[in-house]
Amino acid sequence: MHIRGDGAGDPPARVRDALRRTFAAVGDARTGAARARTAVLNQLLLCVIVLFVAALALWGTGAIHRSLFLSGVLLIFAGGAVALLVPWARIAQGWVLLLPLLDIVAIALMRRSEPNGGLGLLWAFPAIWLALLGIFGYVLQLVVITGVYWTLVALEPVRGWEYTTFLLPIVTVAIATATFVGSRRHAAQQELLDRQAGMLSDALQRAQRQEELIIEVLDAVDFGVLRVAPDGSVTMVNEAIGRFQQSIPGFGVRERALANAYQADGTTPLPEQDRPLLRAIRGEVFDNQIVWFGHPDERRAAITMTVRRMRDAFGVDNGAVLIARDVTAELTALRARDRLVASVSHELRTPLTSVLGYIDLAMDNLDDPDAARRNLEVAGRNSERLLEIVADILAASSSSRLSADMTISPEPLDAADIVRASAEAWRPRAAERAVSILTADVTPAPVFADPLRLRQVVDNLVSNAVKYNRDGGEIALACSTDEQTTRISVRDTGSGMALEDQRRLFERYYRVRTDIEGTGLGLSISRDIARAHGGDITVHSERGVGSTFVVVLPATAGAVVERPPTVPDAVGGQ
Ligand code: ADP
Repeated sequence: MHIRGDGAGDPPARVRDALRRTFAAVGDARTGAARARTAVLNQLLLCVIVLFVAALALWGTGAIHRSLFLSGVLLIFAGGAVALLVPWARIAQGWVLLLPLLDIVAIALMRRSEPNGGLGLLWAFPAIWLALLGIFGYVLQLVVITGVYWTLVALEPVRGWEYTTFLLPIVTVAIATATFVGSRRHAAQQELLDRQAGMLSDALQRAQRQEELIIEVLDAVDFGVLRVAPDGSVTMVNEAIGRFQQSIPGFGVRERALANAYQADGTTPLPEQDRPLLRAIRGEVFDNQIVWFGHPDERRAAITMTVRRMRDAFGVDNGAVLIARDVTAELTALRARDRLVASVSHELRTPLTSVLGYIDLAMDNLDDPDAARRNLEVAGRNSERLLEIVADILAASSSSRLSADMTISPEPLDAADIVRASAEAWRPRAAERAVSILTADVTPAPVFADPLRLRQVVDNLVSNAVKYNRDGGEIALACSTDEQTTRISVRDTGSGMALEDQRRLFERYYRVRTDIEGTGLGLSISRDIARAHGGDITVHSERGVGSTFVVVLPATAGAVVERPPTVPDAVGGQ
């Protein structure tokens, strides 16, 4: 036979179980402190009632057996003292049963002192107390009180057994039963409440854990998430939105206007009513609205924003969620690519047209070999220019940094020779725009460099100084050395650049002026060449005044280059 673990079918086990439950109930609310409080309150209540009854009884003239009565009263008070003094919370729970048992005996003494005084009714108090302690207490009070009462009745010579003999036990049992049933129901309700409270707290904890998880996930992602409540207030932003807010004043804050916000084209100012946040608050739903933040001349950020409505479990509108993503790098790359395609095709077309034109001319001049040769020489020079452009593009689009895999063959040179040769090569082009190239400060300066590469760098700087100069402007070239580091500087009186452009000037494909032909590769390649030599290039520029590019290179094979400060310091120091 299979016996259930709780022993419900086995009488001794049932008694043990009842006892255990009683002892647990004696603990009242399962805490020692509550147990002590119950014992003290019950006993003191009985003390007060007995004091009152004693006063009435002793004041009356009935045939009361005073010493017996007083000993009963004293016993009850002794119980009161015990209730107050014993640390119930610290001793075994069952000891508290002794108090109602003591009360039953004390009440028996009082009743014996005056059998007709109805003092047996006081048994209702220990009966209630015991019934509250569970089934064991209930049975105990039934047996003890009925037993004691009937013993007293049996000891009384005058009274025989009549219906009143049963009345008091019946009344006591009725009171105890009502108390017992009520306390069980209360305990069951309490248990139900405890279980529900437990379930609620579990559910709450689960919800909290999920909320924490969602917050962690939302903070980990690099796109911004902002929640708009149905009343239009912003109720949640993740860390990415916080980062946007640090760099973009007014971002995600309804009450603040957005400063320097532009539409997707990057130049048309964004009207306030078209702000994505305000559109979301108005209830609109849209995808990928691009907004550029920052003045076109400054460092800018492009953010794309998407808004979706949210609905609760009943399908009622529950506000909106706005997703914001930084697409500056993507859009800049796209723009750079478009610009590159445009400028490269333009750059290629000019020499290519010239090559084709001069080959045609040479074909027409076949009977005049000198003229044909001159035509072919021009075509050849333009083809070389084509080759240079293609080489530049290939070098710049290689995935590795140019300086890392560039082969250079440095040798001791005089920087002045290279600079002067470059000046002479560019003088005719400069003359077309009445730009003069000054070489008075080009003094001999030793440099340890690859002659072809160094010429490439100087050519690029001088060609830029011509291209971006004003008509009738000036270009001053100079060389200087301290026998460790040699500096070649190219100063022009051109358009100059904003600080932001100077910072990005050496990025591949970065161009400031798009109205003049170019690929945006020359400076990036030049700096890579300088760095491959262990040197560098820096720029000092002021808008409308001009720019100075300085190439620093080692003067000798063993020299260590002292690099000049980078752009912000250099400009700040001007
Ligand atoms: P490219 O001249 O082919 O565009 P570069 O890398 O040589 O490419 O130059 C990058 C950009 O830097 C140019 O587009 C131009 O706007 C700017 N720049 C270069 N040199 C000067 C200069 N001397 N004065 C003003 N702007 C310049």
